[in-house]
Amino acid sequence: MRVVLLGPPGAGKGTQAQVIAQRLGVPAISTGDIFRANVSGQTELGEKAKAYMDAGDLVPDEITVAMVKDRLAEPDAKSGFLLDGFPRTIAQAEQLRESLGELGHSLDRVLELVVDEEELVRRLSGRRMLVDGEMIQRDDDKPETVRHRLQVYREQTEPLSGFYESAGQLSRIDAIGEVEEVTARAMTALGADDPGQPSTD
Ligand code: ADP
Repeated sequence: MRVVLLGPPGAGKGTQAQVIAQRLGVPAISTGDIFRANVSGQTELGEKAKAYMDAGDLVPDEITVAMVKDRLAEPDAKSGFLLDGFPRTIAQAEQLRESLGELGHSLDRVLELVVDEEELVRRLSGRRMLVDGEMIQRDDDKPETVRHRLQVYREQTEPLSGFYESAGQLSRIDAIGEVEEVTARAMTALGADDPGQPSTD
């Protein structure tokens, strides 16, 4: 299955991506994680991406698209994947559609995690991650950068919702609630059996 997870920063994409990908048996591919690994590894790609990321801006499309194409060409992504954080612009979405099309493939579904803005700001400013045994705040989770990232989302990424809706590929998922509840809604939207959840009917 080929799936895209869409949603604003703080919607829980990273968490859901891991669980859903595992249940589907496909790799979870997070462009944010790949960029962060390159920044800490001080690679050429990391050097290029760092300033944009620290400012809460998007890394330019050419850099991002080339990176995703390389990743999707790896053997584990041949028969399916779950993309988390890509595409983030209409241009990225068009290029993704084109490169999948060249292989005779298309996306099976785009899941949009929906969370209201007040909850997003609350989640992001309280978010910490574990690095070398310490809980630290991501540089781009500082309040002023968070506001900027939300604005970038509204301007550049939110239009993807309409793009995929008119293609009949979009499912909106209410992303408020327990992690398992949100996963169950996503699995239902994917039409995938969810053995982890007891039936409620
Ligand atoms: P979040 O979803 O919490 O905003 P991510 O980990 O997905 O965070 O992304 C962190 C940063 O990495 C983004 O703010 C951006 O600078 C960069 N980035 C990730 N994915 C993309 C993408 N598809 N296009 C451009 N920049 C990206």
